[in-house]
Amino acid sequence: MAATQMEQLVSLCKRRGFIFQNSDIYGGLQGLYDYGPLGVELKNNIKAAWWRAMVYERDDVEGLDAAIITNRKVLHYSGHEDTFSDPMVDCKKCKGRFRADHIDGKCPNCGSTELTEPRPFNLMLRTQLGPVVNEDAVAYLRPETAQAIFTQFKNVVDATSRKLPFGIAQIGKSFRNEITPKNFIFRVREFEQAELEFFVKPGEDEKWHEIWKQNRIQWWRDQGIESDNLKIYDQQPDELAHYAKACTDIEYKFPWGFDELEGVANRRDYDLGNHTKSQEEFNLEAKCHENHDSTTKLCIRDDDENKWVIPFVIEPSMGIDRGMLAILVEAYNEEDLGNGNSRIVMKIKKHLAPIKVAIVPLKKNSPEIMAKCHELKQKLMKLGIGRVALENTGNIGKAYRRHDEIGTPLCLTVDFETLEQQPESVTLRDRDTMEQIRVNTADLPAYLREYFA
Ligand code: ATP
Repeated sequence: MAATQMEQLVSLCKRRGFIFQNSDIYGGLQGLYDYGPLGVELKNNIKAAWWRAMVYERDDVEGLDAAIITNRKVLHYSGHEDTFSDPMVDCKKCKGRFRADHIDGKCPNCGSTELTEPRPFNLMLRTQLGPVVNEDAVAYLRPETAQAIFTQFKNVVDATSRKLPFGIAQIGKSFRNEITPKNFIFRVREFEQAELEFFVKPGEDEKWHEIWKQNRIQWWRDQGIESDNLKIYDQQPDELAHYAKACTDIEYKFPWGFDELEGVANRRDYDLGNHTKSQEEFNLEAKCHENHDSTTKLCIRDDDENKWVIPFVIEPSMGIDRGMLAILVEAYNEEDLGNGNSRIVMKIKKHLAPIKVAIVPLKKNSPEIMAKCHELKQKLMKLGIGRVALENTGNIGKAYRRHDEIGTPLCLTVDFETLEQQPESVTLRDRDTMEQIRVNTADLPAYLREYFA
C-alpha cells in the first residue's frame, strides 16, 4: 500500500466509523484512539479469532482476565521499574523529544543535529490507589498483560491440575507512555495485547519456540495476510532483552516498511523465577532478582523427574490494534471497474467482517418491502453468524458502495419479485466478485450458516 492510500484508509476509518481520534472535540489526546461502531465489531472479531485458535481449538491452554491496575511489587520484581525504558533524546534547538533508536542522529522536526545524550525514560504509567497520596499508594497501569499470568500461575495450576506443557492466555489493555506515538494505531499509549504464556519443561523450550513461531505465522495467514507481506526476524544476541534466550519478531509490510506485529520470545525461567520465594532451591538458568516479598514458589511437579521445577516460558505476544491496522491495510483495495468507474472495497476475511449481511430494500418507501426486510432481519440475526444490518439509505447503488467500503461480504436485496413470486426469494450480492444469485428465503438459514461456518 502506498502512503497516499494510507491517508485514504485513515480517512475512511473515520468517515465510516472504524476509528476516531480520542477526545476529538477537544483537539484529541496524543497516542489515544477510540473504536467506532464498525471498529468495535472488527476488534471483537479479531479477539474472538485469537481466542478460538489459542484456547478453544487446543486442549493445553486456559484463559485468564486479570486486573489492569497492578501492585507495584509485581512490576518491581518483574524488572519493569528498573529497566522498562526507552532511550530518549531532546533536540536542543526546537526542544522536540524523540526515541533515540527511532531517529538517525538528526531532529525529525527541524533537522538539527544538536541532540542531548540519550537517557532512559520509563514507559510505565503510574497511578495511586486510595485517599492518601504518598509513595505507598503508588500502583501502575500494566505495561503488558503477561505479569498477572505469572503471578497467578500457582492458582491456575491448583485450580486446573495442569501438567507441563500448558499455557495461559489473556487478552486485555496495556499502557505505555510512548515517547513518540505514531503511525495511526500502530504505536499508541493505550492498546490491547493478546498474550500466551506457554509453560514447558526446561530443555524442551527450543522445540516449543519453533512450534509457536510456525503456529503464529499460520494464524496471521488465516486472518487474510499474504505470506509475502509477512516476515520473520530472529533477534540477534546483542538485541535480545537480557532475560530472553531467543526472540522472533513477526513483521508486516506496513506502508512505511516492515514493522513488528508480534514477538515470540523464549523467556526461560526469568519471570516465574523472579516472583518466587526461596529461589535458591531451584536451579534457575536466568539471572533473577532475589525476592523478599513473594509468599509463593511458582513451581510445578515434574512427575518424570520426581521433583519441583520452575518451567521455562514461550511467549507469543501480539498487539490487537497493530493486528487490526495490518488487516485493514491488507484488505484495502481500489478497483477500476472500467468506463470511468471505480470502487473501494475492503476484502476483509468473512469471519472478521464487522457486518456479515446487509439487508437492502430496493425501495425504502415501499411498506411491503420494508416489512419483509424487518422480518428477515429478525430471522437472520438469530442464526449466530454475527451482525446482520438493515440498510436504509433508499439507494441501492449507495448501499452496495458503502458495504464494499466496510467489507460486508454479502448484501441481501429485497425487491418486488420477493413479494410477488413463489417460492419467495431474494438476491445475494457477493462483495468481491459483485456477482448476484437468487436464493429462496426458506434456504437462507442453511445457506448463510454454511457460508459463515
Ligand atoms: P516496539 O519495539 O514496537 O516498541 P515491543 O517489542 O516493545 O514493541 P512487546 O513488548 O514485545 O513490544 O509487546 C508485544 C506486542 O504488543 C508488540 O508486538 C505489539 O504488537 C504490541 N505493542 C507494544 N507496544 C505497543 C504500542 N505502543 N502500541 C500498540 N501496540 C503495541
